[in-house]
Amino acid sequence: TVYGLAAVVNDFDAVERIFVAKGRPAHNPLIVHVADIEGARVLSRRWSDRAEILATHFWPGPLTLVVDRNETLPLNVTAGGSTVAIRCPDQSLTRLLIEMVGQPLAAPSANRSTELSPTCAKHVVEGLGGLVDLILDAGPCQRGIESTVIDTTSDPPFILRPGPIGQSELSQALGVMVDIRLITDVMQPMIQRSPGTGLRHYAPRARVELTVNPSSRLAELLAMGFRVGWLTLSEPSHEQLGTITVLRMPDDPVEFAKVLYDRMHQADECGVDVLLVDRPPEFIEWIAIHDRLTRASFSDQTKGFENSSRTSHR
Ligand code: AMP
Ligand code: MG
Repeated sequence: TVYGLAAVVNDFDAVERIFVAKGRPAHNPLIVHVADIEGARVLSRRWSDRAEILATHFWPGPLTLVVDRNETLPLNVTAGGSTVAIRCPDQSLTRLLIEMVGQPLAAPSANRSTELSPTCAKHVVEGLGGLVDLILDAGPCQRGIESTVIDTTSDPPFILRPGPIGQSELSQALGVMVDIRLITDVMQPMIQRSPGTGLRHYAPRARVELTVNPSSRLAELLAMGFRVGWLTLSEPSHEQLGTITVLRMPDDPVEFAKVLYDRMHQADECGVDVLLVDRPPEFIEWIAIHDRLTRASFSDQTKGFENSSRTSHR
């Protein structure tokens, strides 16, 4: 999925250092990575039939199961909650690491809190370089976005974070329609069931704007003196190529996900102030992309952009 920052799950102090390195709020729980289903059973108080079916179908792979936690787990892993999020990754180096350590690893994404997830080792060096002991480089990530998170303790099961494994695949495997909260619903104030799914998240330094009418907005932003980047699904014109940083995106959602964070990292490297993003198609296969882009573009009210200067808008 993306690069992770791992600590042995039963080492309270090591897990604590994850929160420090990331600047992560203590109320945001971590995903525990296991070698196999047996490893997951040990971490849970009640391993349900649904959890078993989903694990059998999708593990190893990019699916995280929220289940009732075993009392012996250190409290900081689950942020004090009564459930634990578990998954079994299919990345070979990660699997080898878990096997060699002989214990599950608690691991969120290897970035500072709210910032872009890393999809290659270089991103980790830039984001967390001085703050972690060791970086393992396994090349670019295959998926490029974070795992799907599903709460198996609710009825029907509920997708807390959309990701590479879709709602229909999950529903089909379980034989019941699983529920999902659309990002547009999340924008309304509500109690968050999955604490890490804060609104501003996955964000580059550049201010992200989703748009259906890029040409006129590009002109406006250039007239205001901003350095503009454009994450686009269409072919830019010649004059556009001369004045802005164009980042061409694939029109397939899986390929789009694979390069999304890297393109956003690139926009930051180019010193872009505003990153315009073409709004992707409104089809179900794009739901995880919409989720990440909407969060990346979310800015809280205190950071009024209109009145801020080019350099102080963060
Ligand atoms: P990350 O920090 O990017 O690895 O994302 C991990 C995410 O998994 C968290 O931010 C939560 O959204 C989700 N998560 C972890 N544990 C739980 C849990 N017990 N219940 C619900 N969601 C969880
Ligand atoms: Mg993260």
